[in-house]
Amino acid sequence: ERIVSAEATELEEQSEQGLRPKRLADYIGQETVKHNLAVFMEAAKMREEALDHVLLYGPPGLGKTTLAAIIAAEMGGELRTTSGPAIERSGDLAAILTALEPGDVLFIDEIHRLNRTVEEVLYPAMEDFCLDIVIGKGPTARSVRLDLPPFTLVGATTRAGMLSSPLRDRFGVMARLEYYKPEELAQIVERSATVFQATLEPSAALELARRSRGTPRIANRLLRRVRDFAQVGGEAAISLERACSALEQLHVDPLGLDHIDDKLLKGMIEKFNGGPVGLETIAATIGEEAATIEEVYEPYLLQIGFIQRTPRGRIATPACYAHYGVEKQNG
Ligand code: ADP
Repeated sequence: ERIVSAEATELEEQSEQGLRPKRLADYIGQETVKHNLAVFMEAAKMREEALDHVLLYGPPGLGKTTLAAIIAAEMGGELRTTSGPAIERSGDLAAILTALEPGDVLFIDEIHRLNRTVEEVLYPAMEDFCLDIVIGKGPTARSVRLDLPPFTLVGATTRAGMLSSPLRDRFGVMARLEYYKPEELAQIVERSATVFQATLEPSAALELARRSRGTPRIANRLLRRVRDFAQVGGEAAISLERACSALEQLHVDPLGLDHIDDKLLKGMIEKFNGGPVGLETIAATIGEEAATIEEVYEPYLLQIGFIQRTPRGRIATPACYAHYGVEKQNG
């Protein structure tokens, strides 16, 4: 397990609950999304209607699940949570939908992984709050229409492009979550430290923030580990020095890169003179699946401008060379 992975481990999924802000006002960053949602929620409440369906998209660990729970709390409904791969048959979805109460929020994580048959049950549910059920088989089969309570579907996906267009078209609100700025992540870890009843010096908070790859989940994970080092060291507060030494111990460099990033980037520089080099070739040299590189390792490296995707393959940028203190060879 990488310490800088944006995905939650099973253990974290439980411990994260306590760290989630419950209200929109406590949700740090994502100002545009927050502002727009506040307006849409206010308007829906004034009309005494359910909020339009919301699609949240963006990389893992940026607060999609947290935001879904906040929407339910702000709208005064219950949150019902499921995920695309968990709903195997249309009957599973029908059971979930018919159990909803007016104003509830149904959160479907990884919504791009719903299968087609299930998706088709969702269309009339989203559009007209109804469910078409087929009773019987063959020539005597007939369709019955059931009314559903007005509800809000909140879908989350890391890959908005993989959503079918009929599904995408049924969301009234689409919000893209962005990587967080260090100042915002510093605020997030300061808040988490308070929850943990730990004292975190502001300079240490900012250092953690800078090494968290723009991702609150990683920031909170680094905080937990650094707190362990401070605790074992018998320190009352987490200082900048402690944060730096612990992060060095954990092999998280000042930009949040770990040994896998190093291996990938140095491989590109040393073996391929910075590229262009094909994804498959990179995959073979570091012993990883091409898809894993593309979906897990590359997004942050692209974000910080260390690599570029070109039609002829990946290239290591001058910023990447500078980071490793290496000169690019000519020719
Ligand atoms: P996602 O669903 O996008 O993978 P989560 O909502 O599970 O992300 O968030 C991961 C962790 O980061 C949670 O523990 C949550 O408390 C924290 N977090 C995410 N966004 C924020 C935010 N804007 N403010 C404070 N904490 C946040």
